[in-house]
Amino acid sequence: MPRFRQILDSMAPYKPGKAVAASDGRSYKLSSNESPYDPLPSVVEAIAEGARHIHRYPDAGAVKLTEAVAERYGVPFDHVALGPGSVTVQQQLLEAVGDPGAEVVYAWRSFEAYPLLCDLAGVRSVRVPLAGEDHDLDAMATAINDDTRLIFVCNPNNPTSTAIRRAELESFLDRVPEHVLVVLDEAYREYVRDEDVPDGLALYQDRPNVCVVRTFSKAYGLAGLRVGYMIAHEPVAAAVRKTIVPFAVNHLAQVAAIASLKAEDELLERVEHVVKERTRVREALIAQGWTVPHSEANFVWLRLGERTMDFAAACAVEGVAVRPFAGEGARVSIGDPEANDAFLTAASTFRG
Ligand SMILES: *Cc1c(COP(=O)(O)O)cnc(C)c1O
Repeated sequence: MPRFRQILDSMAPYKPGKAVAASDGRSYKLSSNESPYDPLPSVVEAIAEGARHIHRYPDAGAVKLTEAVAERYGVPFDHVALGPGSVTVQQQLLEAVGDPGAEVVYAWRSFEAYPLLCDLAGVRSVRVPLAGEDHDLDAMATAINDDTRLIFVCNPNNPTSTAIRRAELESFLDRVPEHVLVVLDEAYREYVRDEDVPDGLALYQDRPNVCVVRTFSKAYGLAGLRVGYMIAHEPVAAAVRKTIVPFAVNHLAQVAAIASLKAEDELLERVEHVVKERTRVREALIAQGWTVPHSEANFVWLRLGERTMDFAAACAVEGVAVRPFAGEGARVSIGDPEANDAFLTAASTFRG
């Protein structure tokens, strides 16, 4: 037998959201926070045209897409680093900081990829329990020690949907030593409507140890193509560029992301519909008697405790796939109105 790293024995593999079907065949996938919309015709067209070039390697530096992102956000070209999905950008960041003995601090529960990425990178995870459904930034600051190299802050938090506000986040960042990198994971930034939730791009400007990670997977509807990016000061961006696997962002992802930025108005209009549906779903759940944290993302969170898996099974009967975390709660993506209605029916039936 070849000898494998010991960590592989204890690592929990990433569980992707599943699809389920009702007995009549109806199936609503509300388990992966994807966009409920089909790709825009203009984006499909760009991909079709791009397909004519796939016998060539992609542009390893993804120059055009990097330029487009830099221009979109008004940041220098060398502040942008791309990766095949923002999860991989985060993996690249861990590769960049993960000396043996390094510690990485993050809230728990938060994004399921964090523990997995930390295990793979060989760094120690320091999980700081949420306070209710929110980051406990005070406890996270206290968890920092000489070994701490990186902190994930997921804002809004997946799966609890709540967001950290400006004053609280700024005073946390002021407490983090400069040699510790803070990763603001803003995968759901486009869904934030609370004006008191800070834009990471304003926070990183005068903080060399803060970076912002975003993705084309959610609001821009390109989950299947794998492309995300980081915006940070030049040394951080350079470290992420160094740790990328050659040609990792494929040509179709590059052209689709560029086309999506061109069609941004249309895409953000879709986001607006999702936000409206989020309000409708949350209010309907509250009217049914549920406690639902305020959501700044494209999903809602129900803390169900021991009833979580029963709830997921009840949703599956209606053809609705949710994302259950056994013993804790269920995360439910906002889909199109029909899917959301199916979910609300399941939730209502479950309450009895
Ligand atoms: C969905 C999600 C991402 C996006 O991952 P990609 O690799 O870009 O698809 C990143 N962070 C969080 C917290 C997410 O929920």
